[in-house]
Amino acid sequence: MGEKKKDSDRRIGRRSLLIGGAAAALGTAALAREELGRLWWRLPGNRKPRVEGAVDFGGALWTAASPGNFRWADRPDDYPIDRVIIHVTQGSYGSAVKVFQDPAHQAAAHYIVRKDGRITQMIRELDVAFHAGNRSFNERSVGIEHEGFVDRPQDFTDAMYAASARLTARICARYGIPVDRTHVIGHVEVPGTDHTDPGPHWDWDRYMRLVRQAKRDADHAEATA
Ligand SMILES: [Zn+2]
Repeated sequence: MGEKKKDSDRRIGRRSLLIGGAAAALGTAALAREELGRLWWRLPGNRKPRVEGAVDFGGALWTAASPGNFRWADRPDDYPIDRVIIHVTQGSYGSAVKVFQDPAHQAAAHYIVRKDGRITQMIRELDVAFHAGNRSFNERSVGIEHEGFVDRPQDFTDAMYAASARLTARICARYGIPVDRTHVIGHVEVPGTDHTDPGPHWDWDRYMRLVRQAKRDADHAEATA
């Protein structure tokens, strides 16, 4: 589950401040039209345009998280992505969606994988989700929740492992992340965390084998795209 510790930093990137400062000093009209057209979303109060309902993983269902649970960003341009973090929700899919839509929750992951293998995306990979309880790990990672409880191994179904592995493989292919246990980690392995998910029943050997297998397919898809 996502970290409840407050991580709702609304820092404006240094580049935005510089551009914002320049715009204020020179006046917007003085900025080259071309430059403004390319960078307008970096001006304070703007963000990069996105298509409503678009997802980063084909077949995922889109349900938006509350903006209180993530920070708008432009990854991987502003923050490189080199980790995938595996979570378990400690509750049902419905309850996870509900808290991720709650602006007071202050935590949410990019994806939720259900027991039947269906995948819901709630935050774009462009954006920094508050799921790791560690700011730099939030900025560098994609977070994947899995429906269920850490002490109920039966919650981790074949369909869930297979779907999650395809998702992780695709993320690793997209950002050039090595498929190993340094770069695909559990919430429990995030420095400073007091969370234990995904717990001792998550079968890492099996999962990583499935991810490697799916990655070979994803690499092939990238190469022929
Ligand atoms: Zn977690």
